[in-house]
Amino acid sequence: MGFQMNQSDSNRRRPPSIDSLLRKTDSYPIPRLLRKRLIQDLLRVWQQEHSLPDTAFIEAAIGSHLERIEKGHLQPVINATGVVLHTNMGRAPFHMDLCVHVNQSLIGYNSLELDLNTGKRGKRGALVEKALAVLTCSESATVVNNCASALILILSACKLKDRREVLVSRSELVQIGGGFRIPEILESAGLQLKEIGTTNRTHINDYKKSITDETALILKVHQSNFYMDGFVESASIKDLAELAKSQQIPFAVDLGSGALIHTASHFGIEEEPTPESIVQKGADMVCFSGDKLMAGPQAGIIVGKETWIERLKSNPFFRALRPDKMVLSALEFTVQKHLESKNDPESPKLPDLPAYELLSQSRQNLKDRADAILKASNCRTVDLNIIETDSEVGGGTMPRTRMASIAIEVSIQSIKPDTIARSFRECHPPVIGYVQQGSFRLNLRTIFSDQDETISACIQQIEEKLVLRSSKEA
Ligand SMILES: *Cc1c(COP(=O)(O)O)cnc(C)c1O
Repeated sequence: MGFQMNQSDSNRRRPPSIDSLLRKTDSYPIPRLLRKRLIQDLLRVWQQEHSLPDTAFIEAAIGSHLERIEKGHLQPVINATGVVLHTNMGRAPFHMDLCVHVNQSLIGYNSLELDLNTGKRGKRGALVEKALAVLTCSESATVVNNCASALILILSACKLKDRREVLVSRSELVQIGGGFRIPEILESAGLQLKEIGTTNRTHINDYKKSITDETALILKVHQSNFYMDGFVESASIKDLAELAKSQQIPFAVDLGSGALIHTASHFGIEEEPTPESIVQKGADMVCFSGDKLMAGPQAGIIVGKETWIERLKSNPFFRALRPDKMVLSALEFTVQKHLESKNDPESPKLPDLPAYELLSQSRQNLKDRADAILKASNCRTVDLNIIETDSEVGGGTMPRTRMASIAIEVSIQSIKPDTIARSFRECHPPVIGYVQQGSFRLNLRTIFSDQDETISACIQQIEEKLVLRSSKEA
């Protein structure tokens, strides 16, 4: 192995001692053991590259590295992107009341699996399951970690020794988010995908022709984050349910978002299918996310026929996928809000949940708030403009739906929009906007009205900081 002796400074240098670096960074709010590891990792990179800098450089680099790491904490941010169910910001936002409920129900021990009537072991989440069944007009319901695990559980429960084929339309072989791909999920669950129909057209007869003794399941998947237009056709839920029943094959629908409310009448956008409507048309199992249009915590809800839900719950995978006490508590709160909104069946209200509050704001209302923010910011050098724009539901749902919205355009002469974006991220709490058409924007749709004052304060701080800096540079 060739090893060249290199007499350069960086090779002869020895790194400063870990102890001295630890002492120098004592003021960072990162526990010593973690700090030590971070410092060691950084030093190792330099040493491996034979490019150890001098001590002053090392200390400065470690300082900024620790600052970056420190920002990795889970912490509140202000979402000014206009994307309501933003996957990078925890999808459905939580209200303080939900956090208080979780706090109060979980401090110390709790009755997670305790039946207080008998003092004996009880069933985890039994009340939430019943409530979910009521909300979706289903025989039965259960809960797992997310919709992805719900699908895995359904697949696993439908897999039989001699029946491994799952029928899915070619138009529904979707990828959701980072790496969730329907064909790969099927394969990893030990099942075989049987593609039905064509990309744009799938007929009920295409399914009929494909059923054999090896068919384990008919699966319908919501297209979620894309849509098709033009010469398209798909088999209806009702026809699929009838076919499955006549052939004694289970029929499941992965609904993805699954709105428990009518999105068209409440928000004036397109109607998202409700789990209730799918169950009524005869599906055996329907799964959907807790943190998309249900506006609750991350969870996978499965509703449908009692025999199937019981089969899911007795599957060995269920134990590995079930939610913990924190999720169950947050879900209990969310489900309660949904139920309360239906107290008067004649005129169901909009459940009192933050995502719905954001979705139902009118453009005029957002405009009034933007005006007030501009007034309160009282800027001299920062240029603030109110523009009409739109916003999205997000979370991989309703890709063609846009809601009328208002944004504040923030520009400062001779300062790049990306630099402005960074300054907003450095506010407390960080404000996350976006750059569009060459300028930085704050979309009012996803800013809660009680955050408006924070936004003006942040604008003022940025004016002081950036304008001061640019005048120094000039
Ligand atoms: C979003 C989505 C999923 C995944 O849901 P998670 O709750 O994020 O696991 C699965 N299927 C469809 C159709 C979806 O839209």
